[in-house]
Amino acid sequence: MFKKARIKLTLRYLAIIMAISISFSVAIYISVDRELGRIDNLQKVRQERVDTISTFLTQNGIPVPPEVQSLDSETVEQARVRIISILGIINLSILAISGLGGYFLAGLTLDPISEMVEDQKEFVGNASHELRTPLTSLKTEIEVALRDKKMGIGEARKLLKSNLEDVNHMQRLSNYLLELNKYENSDLELETASIDLSESIISAIGKVRPLAIERRIKINTSLPKVEVKGNESALTELVTILIDNAIKYSGKSKRIVVRTKAGGIFEVEDFGVGIAETELPHIFDRFYRAEESRSKEKVDGYGLGLSIAKSIVDKMNGKIKVASRVGEGSTFSVQLPVA
Ligand code: ADP
Repeated sequence: MFKKARIKLTLRYLAIIMAISISFSVAIYISVDRELGRIDNLQKVRQERVDTISTFLTQNGIPVPPEVQSLDSETVEQARVRIISILGIINLSILAISGLGGYFLAGLTLDPISEMVEDQKEFVGNASHELRTPLTSLKTEIEVALRDKKMGIGEARKLLKSNLEDVNHMQRLSNYLLELNKYENSDLELETASIDLSESIISAIGKVRPLAIERRIKINTSLPKVEVKGNESALTELVTILIDNAIKYSGKSKRIVVRTKAGGIFEVEDFGVGIAETELPHIFDRFYRAEESRSKEKVDGYGLGLSIAKSIVDKMNGKIKVASRVGEGSTFSVQLPVA
């Protein structure tokens, strides 16, 4: 697909360059031709004079000196032909050079677009794959249930419960995809205001509290007032993702710490499974999930939370970094513009 586009683009570049080059050549030829015409006329006048002098000398029996003999009338015509061929050679050289250059330039222009399309394809592939699993399970369960003529109410309820889990799974995924689409949209300008970081953190803790209670995890906080410039709902979303992850990946540890620091910084620290050094560069990639073997219990997720977190931080002109050691825990640290 991109090979064709590259050739098309090269041809367009060539058409533009050749149109310019040929117009210049025509302009050059027209002005040179005019000049040659003027020289031609001058030469004709001089030729007439030479002829008169030669006739006069011959009539009076005086030999005509060689410098007064006929002037070469073909020189002008030859100059015209030479100019046309020189211009032709120049244009052919421009055609060859700009063909190669255009092909190279077209490659450079299309490279980032091609990367973006590949990225998009991979994204759609991953999203479809994530959707297929719950859809297949939903379909199979419904088909089996429809074939079972003696299904009791208890079994039916169990089935519906399982169906609901699959539907919830798909709903969570579609919410994540919408969030990602929203924050990765380059046209979206987030409304910013001066926000107290601790307020957003308290609001995020409120959202994840049920999960923390379920896992019996205590959230310790140290929240001195720090004002940052950002978007309130996006900031709450960002903190929620980081605390949610800290809880999910706490393993046996029962404590996480959230703190704010001067300079528009907040940190979410856990003492859980940690992230291997080799995986650290990838955790912000879409759909990336680190190996589950280290965290004994299977942790639910799609590998989209940190991509959304990163998009939010980027949108607010901030920075996000992580320090982690396997088996010891992780600290996600976000720095936002100070208000
Ligand atoms: P998800 O949690 O849904 O898998 P994320 O994008 O939030 O997706 O995280 C990507 C991966 O980074 C996770 O699969 C996990 O392996 C790793 N990760 C994120 N946060 C933590 C954390 N606090 N501790 C250990 N690993 C983490």
